[in-house]
Amino acid sequence: MSQVGRRLSLSVGIGLCLALTTSLSSALAADVDYKAAGAEATKILGDYLKIDTTVPPGNEKKGAEFLAEILKKNGIEAQIFDTAPGRACVYARLKGNGKKRGVVLLNHIDVVPANPADWKHPPFCGEVFDGELWGRGALDMKGMGIIELEAMLMIKKSGITLDRDIVFLGTPDEEVGGEFGAGWIKKNKPELVKDCEFLINEGFMIEADKDGKAKYWGVNFAEKSPLWLELTAKGQAGHASMPLPGSATNKLVKALQKLNDAGPNFKVLPPVEEYFKNVSTLEGGELKDIYATVADSVKDPAKVKLIMGDVLKSSMLYNTVSLTVLKAGYKTNVIPGEATAQLDCRILPGVTKDEVVSYVKKTIDDPTIEIGVIEWEQAEPSKLDTDLFNSIKKVAADEFPGMPVVPVLVPWFTDSHWFRELGLTAYGFEPVEVGPQHMATMHGVDERIPVKGIEDGVRRMYKILMDVGGAK
Ligand SMILES: [Zn+2]
Repeated sequence: MSQVGRRLSLSVGIGLCLALTTSLSSALAADVDYKAAGAEATKILGDYLKIDTTVPPGNEKKGAEFLAEILKKNGIEAQIFDTAPGRACVYARLKGNGKKRGVVLLNHIDVVPANPADWKHPPFCGEVFDGELWGRGALDMKGMGIIELEAMLMIKKSGITLDRDIVFLGTPDEEVGGEFGAGWIKKNKPELVKDCEFLINEGFMIEADKDGKAKYWGVNFAEKSPLWLELTAKGQAGHASMPLPGSATNKLVKALQKLNDAGPNFKVLPPVEEYFKNVSTLEGGELKDIYATVADSVKDPAKVKLIMGDVLKSSMLYNTVSLTVLKAGYKTNVIPGEATAQLDCRILPGVTKDEVVSYVKKTIDDPTIEIGVIEWEQAEPSKLDTDLFNSIKKVAADEFPGMPVVPVLVPWFTDSHWFRELGLTAYGFEPVEVGPQHMATMHGVDERIPVKGIEDGVRRMYKILMDVGGAK
């Protein structure tokens, strides 16, 4: 096992599989003009980035129509599904021979806001400067959407019928929860994807150093599940000149204090333990041993103090609870009859909603406080022993012999969870090297993607799909 876990600044690598040495089908390399495909994808992405799909309000229908038009021009029928005014999904399916179940290429059309005054070039310019294509969404995730689209067009052009259908799905609303995008599909049109086995989405890129050199290929196969709770305390209302010890506000404050004092309730999952072993070799001093034996370390209060110093790494070790919203009262001299608090809990794979709710109930120890669930999306991890994972490993080996392919568990969530809930094996994997200087531009300023990244991404995506699709 090598030290591929090093500096997973925004991720947790869990386990390591060395790339297989089996070579890809030789038919793949022959007669494919990857350079031309990369140039075509760059042109399409430039035009796509010019469409402002900032959410809110989104206006993603314009983006969906743009993508549908390109699919149609290339002989692939595309459908538009309206999910809200001005908002729509685009869906297309390239039929295979039906021997195996399909692969969904998922991407979101919406982007986060950008303030032009902060950018070096206008956020919706979609132009290349110094070998990089600029625009909001270049990385998150219009760039990946076009890499998926171009790979699909290449398969269509090749005339090869794969063993699997390839499904293209562009959705709105991801950046604000996905209810009018992926969530809408799950609720209203699950039949569009339910027959498929795999889904490829954003969620992890190839982590690179500042010179763009890949450290490893990370595949996001699991995410923590969000569980949002609302605690409501009720009590007698009254005039503030005569304090009421059992008031709603007092009860709520006491309950929240208990939750705060309880501290983390650790649960070290085997793959996370493995990750900590990997990163321990990069640490000096006490942390080296603490991480190497993390399952024991979490039982020692002194060591826990040090572990909690890293908010990202430590979040992998327990179900986190953050107090985010507090509401009570309307006037300084009135004791309110009700007080509420909202908690954002992020839950490890394998833990249920009921376990967390009973933990909160037991900890606050006040049966008069109601605990309501505002939001709960349970996302089970996807399997790793699959044809798609093997295809990614094969392509990694083909591109860089010896390149490690690392499964990762991440603390954030993407639209993948909607589809994992439908039973698909979903991987967050964008086959593009992203160094720290580009990573910082996602949801930040000056977002851009190297043109070489688009070319590499298209080639790798095509190879992966051809391989998992059984092309000979
Ligand atoms: Zn995104």
